[in-house]
Amino acid sequence: MKAAVLYENNKPVKVEDVVLDEPQNQEVLVRMVATGVCHTDLHFVKGEMPQPLPVVLGHEGAGVVEKVGTNVSTLQPGDHVVLMVAYSCGKCRYCVCGQPAMCPEWLGYHMMGTLPDATKRLHRNGEDLNHFFSQSSFAEYAVVHERSAIKIRKDAPLETMCLLGCGTTTGIGSVLNTAGLRAGDSIVIYGCGGVGLSAVIAANLGGAGKLIAVDTNDIKLEKAKELGADYVINPTQEDPPQRVMEITNGGADHAIECIGNTNVMAQAFASIHAGGKCVIAGMAPMGAMVSTAPFEFLLGKTITGSVQGHIRAAVDVPKYADLYMAGKLPIDKLVSKYYALEQINEAFGALEKGEIIRGVVRF
Ligand SMILES: [Zn+2]
Ligand SMILES: [Zn+2]
Repeated sequence: MKAAVLYENNKPVKVEDVVLDEPQNQEVLVRMVATGVCHTDLHFVKGEMPQPLPVVLGHEGAGVVEKVGTNVSTLQPGDHVVLMVAYSCGKCRYCVCGQPAMCPEWLGYHMMGTLPDATKRLHRNGEDLNHFFSQSSFAEYAVVHERSAIKIRKDAPLETMCLLGCGTTTGIGSVLNTAGLRAGDSIVIYGCGGVGLSAVIAANLGGAGKLIAVDTNDIKLEKAKELGADYVINPTQEDPPQRVMEITNGGADHAIECIGNTNVMAQAFASIHAGGKCVIAGMAPMGAMVSTAPFEFLLGKTITGSVQGHIRAAVDVPKYADLYMAGKLPIDKLVSKYYALEQINEAFGALEKGEIIRGVVRF
């Protein structure tokens, strides 16, 4: 099968033939239909995040189950599935307490480049290839653990549903789960890429009172307005925290940072009122630090992070698919362009230059 392999950081990804083993215990073979192209892939291509090489990239896949391994109890051939970026074990304190997005199990397997049984199914010329987030879905097929594959309704288009595997759920969950937006609350969303615009869609769905979007790119701000933003701020023209203070008469109830920029994180925290909540959904480079005046904490201001939007994938992903099909969660509007797998480097380039909000590889 064809797969996109990264051999060296900051070099083009190679699309070539690789070997994929059969699914084993609690694993399924998925024929990929579509995989989202995410900034997280780019971080790893550029070596900003550690990952053993060579690796088959791709972590926002959706497809159809073709075969199941032994002891698979939740899926059968023909099921339509969204592959989640983070595997959760179902047994640890986080999983048992209803916070599977915080399960620490995925990280070790991701760092080792394996599936959750600590072995690899991908090979080329007799040499093992590493798995990416235990998924590797920039490939015609993927073998994943059944807990990584969430079954959704068959009438939902997989070329859109793939976005629910990572960035889109992060944006939606940051607003609805982590921030806990209530109808009428004011909210400012910093960054209008795939995660930020998903946050805008969710804030609109959740009944935000004043919905403010911030980005330096006017085209993305137009998109934010189309998706429900009441106000937009371009930091090249206005000071965002100051403008948010004016719009909300003293600070927003919630701020979401969707970029991973420490200066913007500080701006987001400065945009909320006493008692307000600032959620960091963006991924800053390893080793980056953010500083703030401790006095702000005495005002009861909260700053917290959102791991994958604190979603419970098995419950929330089918729910988001239903909301999409009902026309209430128009995440298809985030897709700027579809690509063939062979155009993967072109897709990364366009994402890096900000030419697209989301690209999707269609198989
Ligand atoms: Zn767990
Ligand atoms: Zn992603």
